Amino acid sequence: MGLIEDELSEVRKLCEHTIQGCKLVSCVQSMIRAEIQRTNFKKIVICIQYPKDYPNYPLLIELKSKTFSEKLLAGLTTVVEQEAKKYLGKPQVLKVLQFVKAFIDEHPLACCYDEINNLKKNLNGSQDELKLKQKTSCLYLKVFNECYYLTSKVVIPDQYPDVVIKFEDIQSNFSSTFNRHIIAQVKEIVRRCVEPPLRKPKPNEPLFKPKPSLEKAVFFLIDCIKRLPKENCQFCKTKCFPDDPSLVVLDENSPDHIERVYCGHLYHQSCLFQYLKTPPFGNKRCQTCGQKICHPKWSLSDKLAEDRWAHEQARERELAEVEEFFK
Ligand SMILES: [Zn+2]
Ligand SMILES: [Zn+2]
Repeated sequence: MGLIEDELSEVRKLCEHTIQGCKLVSCVQSMIRAEIQRTNFKKIVICIQYPKDYPNYPLLIELKSKTFSEKLLAGLTTVVEQEAKKYLGKPQVLKVLQFVKAFIDEHPLACCYDEINNLKKNLNGSQDELKLKQKTSCLYLKVFNECYYLTSKVVIPDQYPDVVIKFEDIQSNFSSTFNRHIIAQVKEIVRRCVEPPLRKPKPNEPLFKPKPSLEKAVFFLIDCIKRLPKENCQFCKTKCFPDDPSLVVLDENSPDHIERVYCGHLYHQSCLFQYLKTPPFGNKRCQTCGQKICHPKWSLSDKLAEDRWAHEQARERELAEVEEFFK
């Protein structure tokens, strides 16, 4: 039994000093429990038990995490067990802890495992791809719909999801104005996941916590390509985009320029103007889905739009309070 005692005392002595972010919770013969944390979101708990006939048999290992996906942990457990088998006949605990630490450090995209796999389910074209580059913590998206395409690089920060993900070099063969709107909207989706709303929180509302934004934001981009090229103008009911992308109307002042309103539906510019100019005025809603028509071209400035939004929220809150009073 001397070997195990020696190993335990070595683990107690070295583990927290040599493995950055490692906290030893318990270190006795019946159970070793260590937490390895890189960020709030990247944290794995490792529970280790000694098998009979240790060290000729590999350690019994269980991995737990509140943030990493179950599937990823199951896969990682198998890999860690393989690693322990490399050291049969020798102490294995520190090797295992170091291995898990290195995995967290070298796989920055592992914390988005489920999000990435859910996104891949939406990529059904033969040319579509979502490539992972763990070294630089980047994803490369390519999505096609016949002749239409969109490509983008997505950078996942180490402090995900507390810090916004970045979209670099979003390119498509829609018009450049349309592309700019796509970029503005994807940034807004990400911002809302990370920053608290501008309005005052409602009483008893839980404190705002940043949410993962990758799946939501990239899904938005995929949807733009998979859905919009076939979609009709919601006013005149004719197909908006030509089959040949080289015929897309590029002049943003042309009546035929395609506008994507806030809900995601499409209108010809002239159709949208005509609709907005017909009564009943005020509070115009999308003809198809009933959401408010909201489009960058008709908002005075982002700041004002946000102020308005906050104001509206405040008004809704007031109304809710009044309603409650008269119940
Ligand atoms: Zn139209
Ligand atoms: Zn709509």
